[in-house]
Amino acid sequence: MLAAVLHAAGGPDAFRLEDAPVPNVGADDVLVRVKACGVSYRDVVERNGTYKRDVTFPLIIGLEIAGVVERVGDLVTALKPGDRVCSKAFSSCGDCRYCRTGRETTCLRRKPVRGGYAEYVALPQDAFVTIPETLSFEAACSLGPGAGVALNAVRDTANVQIGETVLVTGATGGVGLPSVQIAKIAGARVIAVTRSAEKADMLRRAGADDVIVSSGDFSGEVRAITNGEGADVVIDTIGSRVFDAAFNSLALHGRYAFVGQLFGENIAINPARIFFKRAQLLGVGSVSRAQLMDVVALAAAGKIKPEIAKVMPLREIAEAHRLVEGAAVHGRVVVVP
Ligand SMILES: [Zn+2]
Repeated sequence: MLAAVLHAAGGPDAFRLEDAPVPNVGADDVLVRVKACGVSYRDVVERNGTYKRDVTFPLIIGLEIAGVVERVGDLVTALKPGDRVCSKAFSSCGDCRYCRTGRETTCLRRKPVRGGYAEYVALPQDAFVTIPETLSFEAACSLGPGAGVALNAVRDTANVQIGETVLVTGATGGVGLPSVQIAKIAGARVIAVTRSAEKADMLRRAGADDVIVSSGDFSGEVRAITNGEGADVVIDTIGSRVFDAAFNSLALHGRYAFVGQLFGENIAINPARIFFKRAQLLGVGSVSRAQLMDVVALAAAGKIKPEIAKVMPLREIAEAHRLVEGAAVHGRVVVVP
């Protein structure tokens, strides 16, 4: 089968297009014929050597997978050949104390999903959920690591309520844009922060009530449009570089959900600011099967719309990585084997 293989960490040209063997299918695995694979930022940091968890070479990466089940192992019960599926970002064991208490994204035996940059991939059945005929593979492939994580952040971690105000940083990003859409569905007033003015219309179409274009401290603008009160919830997909502005934008009793950390810097805060504000600082994990099933249903109903910037052949994987690493596109880049 055709595969883009990494033999060592490196730049976008580190991929070698090779004829690789179709992977073995273990008893708990499903073999999926890949129809589309999103290029995520985790792919970029796995390729360039920043992300090292379970990374050994040679390696086929690509975690935003959608395709058709070709074959299943003897112990697989949830899926059958012919099923259309999309993937979550990690597979979980289903048995540990976290899996048994609805917290599978912290599963002690979780394994990263990888292998989508190829014609076939074999992964544990836990990694996949089914998708309906009405959902394209290109739209479905990034639902787990994108909208699924946004659903986890907005609904299940920050617990957004009708009538609350939600501030989303990095609002045009892979998790940011679905966070805007989902916070709107949840009945919130949504304030989106972006650095680029030309993306404001896209954010309003996604459901943002207010768009703040800023690359500096935006807390004054947030206070101005919320009668001085600030936002009840912050969904922060950027991390340290916007923390001061975003925390200053948080209302009394506000919840601050950390979803991403794009830069390496630490944050510094006087603990008194946290308790004077009665703030809650929340860490958001990956996506569970139940959350992925829910976003698949929301996407099938047209309530969340993945923004696809470009669909490219797998043979152009180096160019696809250049586009994603350089943030040169608005929306997802998808490769097709
Ligand atoms: Zn587990």
